[in-house]
Amino acid sequence: MALRDVLDRDTPSFSFEFFPPKTDAGARSLWQAIRRIERLAPAFVSVTYGAGGSSRDRTVEVTKRMAAETTLRPVAHLTAVGHSVAELRHIIGQYADAGVRDILAVRGDPPGDPNAPWITHPDGFTHANQLVSLVRELGEFGIGVAAFPERHPRSPDWESDIRHFVAKCRAGADYAITQMFFQVEDYLRLRDRVVAAGCDTPIIPEIMPATDVRQIGRFAALSGAAFPEKLAHRLDAARDNPSDGHRIGVEYATAMAERLLAEGAPGLHYITLNRSTVTLEIHRNVLNSRSAQHVLADHR
Ligand code: FAD
Repeated sequence: MALRDVLDRDTPSFSFEFFPPKTDAGARSLWQAIRRIERLAPAFVSVTYGAGGSSRDRTVEVTKRMAAETTLRPVAHLTAVGHSVAELRHIIGQYADAGVRDILAVRGDPPGDPNAPWITHPDGFTHANQLVSLVRELGEFGIGVAAFPERHPRSPDWESDIRHFVAKCRAGADYAITQMFFQVEDYLRLRDRVVAAGCDTPIIPEIMPATDVRQIGRFAALSGAAFPEKLAHRLDAARDNPSDGHRIGVEYATAMAERLLAEGAPGLHYITLNRSTVTLEIHRNVLNSRSAQHVLADHR
């Protein structure tokens, strides 16, 4: 079944994001998490695409191995950073050969400093809509794109942000996944703006558990996502007590996830950081929550 059809069903989808591990120990922990998550039969799992050389090769390796050795549906992230169109064609061809049928087509950021000026490869692409069109042209892939509940940091205004988002959906995207965010209203406002622009592409919210106050700076650097002040204070008070931080983070992410589903989000995409414990706890809470039970009966 195509991913778009899975997302169009009445029951919400659940999916999980991993990144390519750098070390053997990292690979072991990733595969332990993958095996635990496989038992939940998620709609898909995705693997992020690194900034350069070896990390990119590991993305391709992990994604192909998921396709070959698990029952999971792997979605390969792909970016235009530093690639010619010929190279992009080659990578997409490798995925097709390995049975990977789903690609998340994102533009990417300049390596090293996400805020540095974007430099287009002389034979490459400047925006994600071009990558979407290429993937669409090359085969029967399910294609996802990125969405930004607080607007893309480089967008000068909401009007252009939504216009370009809708353009990349119309170039052939089947669904979108959001950047991390911590206030449900930001997701709802984005969804309303996209619908008002005449676009019905499903937008899956990303759930990033925040369990340690020291993560907040990194989240902001990665995504620019605003962090709720009260939550920051609570995590700060738990700075030296990891189990309290864990409880607060799980509680907050669970509440967000439940509200997003109650508001009609088509699914939840959990960032796992290649570990399964926190994510699975949130997911279990969501499945058990009274408000979600009737919608979630199919996922038990
Ligand atoms: P675009 O859609 O090209 O948008 C970038 C900016 O350009 C926006 O301001 C947009 O409004 C504007 N724009 C878009 N189209 C046009 C146009 N035709 N003309 C003029 N302006 C335009 N990065 C990685 O390196 N690896 C990953 O694996 C990865 N995975 C991600 C997964 C998700 C779910 C998300 C949300 C982001 C991910 N990113 C990843 C980060 C992403 O690459 C960056 O946020 C990047 O800056 C934007 O990518 P995009 O696909 O939205 O780009």
